[in-house]
Amino acid sequence: MDTHPVVATGGSAAAASGPLPAHGPKSVLHELEQTLLAIEMIGLGARLQVLEAEVSLPRERLTRLYKELCGTSPPKGMLPFSTDWFLSWRPNAHASMLLGAYRHMVRAGHLDGVRATLAGFRMYREHLSVTGEAAQLSFTRAWMLVRFYERGMLQLARCQCCRGEFVVCANDARQRYICGLCLPPARAGKCRKPGPAGT
Ligand SMILES: [Zn+2]
Repeated sequence: MDTHPVVATGGSAAAASGPLPAHGPKSVLHELEQTLLAIEMIGLGARLQVLEAEVSLPRERLTRLYKELCGTSPPKGMLPFSTDWFLSWRPNAHASMLLGAYRHMVRAGHLDGVRATLAGFRMYREHLSVTGEAAQLSFTRAWMLVRFYERGMLQLARCQCCRGEFVVCANDARQRYICGLCLPPARAGKCRKPGPAGT
């Protein structure tokens, strides 16, 4: 599954030379790196609050960049702060897929922080483009999910039935966990085939 680079501004010469060495916060190269990171994140739909948390550029610069790229002002309002959303049936399957991709990028891809989130999110979307299923997670949701996971507010539990790993609440990491795909709630079958319990 080869991916095309989302930001093509680096060019093959820059890509071949590997990651840029560390630069001071005021260096031109550091600013360029941060600007490219912001462009990549905006391209995937990141909210302004996410950009502010991850990109070390002034808020004004980020807002201007957002306007230039999207043609509109960044949406106002809070980020979704609840962990509950990731536990409901359909989002949970997607959240589990995303977190699996993120962890793969950390372990096998040797990425960390927002770079691992970006790579994991692209991997998640590639999976969906193969199956044709609509994405449940926006980039901002994916970023929140990783944050909840890294802070221990959400965990992964292995399903005793399918052996897959699924997102669960931190205080709900049960020993005998069975995932929502193996044991869907009655409601979940509403727009699909009725579940085994449907009579
Ligand atoms: Zn299962």
